[in-house]
Amino acid sequence: MKHNFPITRTHEPKEKPNPDELEFGTVFTDHMFLMNYDREAGWYDGRIVPYGSLRIEPAAAALHYAQTMFEGLKAYRAKDGTLRLFRPDMNAKRTNATNDRICIPQIDGDLFVSAIKHLVNVERDWVPSKEGTSLYIRPFIFATEPFLGVRPARQYTFAIILSPVGSYYKSGLAPTRIFVEDEYARSVVGGTGQAKIGGNYAAGLISQEKAHAKGFSQVLWLDGAERKYVEEIGTSNAFFVIDGEVFTAPLAGTILPGITRDSVITLLKEWGVPVREERFTIDSVFKAYEDDKLSEVFASGTAAVISPVGDMRWKDREIQINRGDIGALSKRLYDTITGIQTGELPDKYGWTVEV
Ligand SMILES: *Cc1c(COP(=O)(O)O)cnc(C)c1O
Repeated sequence: MKHNFPITRTHEPKEKPNPDELEFGTVFTDHMFLMNYDREAGWYDGRIVPYGSLRIEPAAAALHYAQTMFEGLKAYRAKDGTLRLFRPDMNAKRTNATNDRICIPQIDGDLFVSAIKHLVNVERDWVPSKEGTSLYIRPFIFATEPFLGVRPARQYTFAIILSPVGSYYKSGLAPTRIFVEDEYARSVVGGTGQAKIGGNYAAGLISQEKAHAKGFSQVLWLDGAERKYVEEIGTSNAFFVIDGEVFTAPLAGTILPGITRDSVITLLKEWGVPVREERFTIDSVFKAYEDDKLSEVFASGTAAVISPVGDMRWKDREIQINRGDIGALSKRLYDTITGIQTGELPDKYGWTVEV
């Protein structure tokens, strides 16, 4: 490997969690990756150190003006024990697109992927092997310069932490209940909806709480200008199967360009299923339901891969999709993508990278 990062090993390795009791993002491994940036040196001092608290000045810019971004991907263990990452080059590319939007300096894509590989390699034993489990990888960057003026910071930290995670679905691919948010907006054209930045998620919490209070598991976001067009579901991309065609919102600056979304579209095209990346209204979705043409709704993202939607409520209307069952296309996409990720199926697109 081209990059070389010094490793400081922990003296207190933790006990590995029980693979049957893994949740999402609650347990962290023994080590983390850190690297600093300042204007004169660029990115420097990449290193692997014991996982633990960070020292940060109270005046650090990220704490005040949210100059902070993150990524998410996973390492999977194949039956033969080998470890694979899924399309990490896409996370590197998206990092730089996000960085551009909030004036964080660019980070070399090879350096980004290399840091992930080195850290996962140190923590190999933390990658669980039980079906549906994986090691979640969270790279993130935050502004550390102690300065209270509003301008791009001159110092940053890039960090990577790892968390063994369980199968998203405790009892198989369970369909979710979705609440269509028609009050608050997630993003607008010209805003930050296409960037994976902390502030977007803080702004969405209130809707998520509202949906939970009403008994729904996730929010479906509509466009910020008119609350008319379908955009995303929670922190995943949304797909609607209507009359044999698959509709999903276009990459027009207001939705997050999901790597799972891209993989879904690639597979659908390969299978000859028509995909329409274009604006469509929530009204047209409910109309399709009434005409008996809405056969499946699902969300796509790294955490759950494919998440089928069972029920959907918009204002005072509530519909049940596919009698609350998982649709055939959702199931096929889930099986194919997870099959490629774990090395069970051939990787004809070269999506996986062995660690
Ligand atoms: C991360 C994220 C997604 C999914 O992206 P993947 O690369 O597929 O994990 C979709 N929408 C939002 C808002 C996200 O933050």
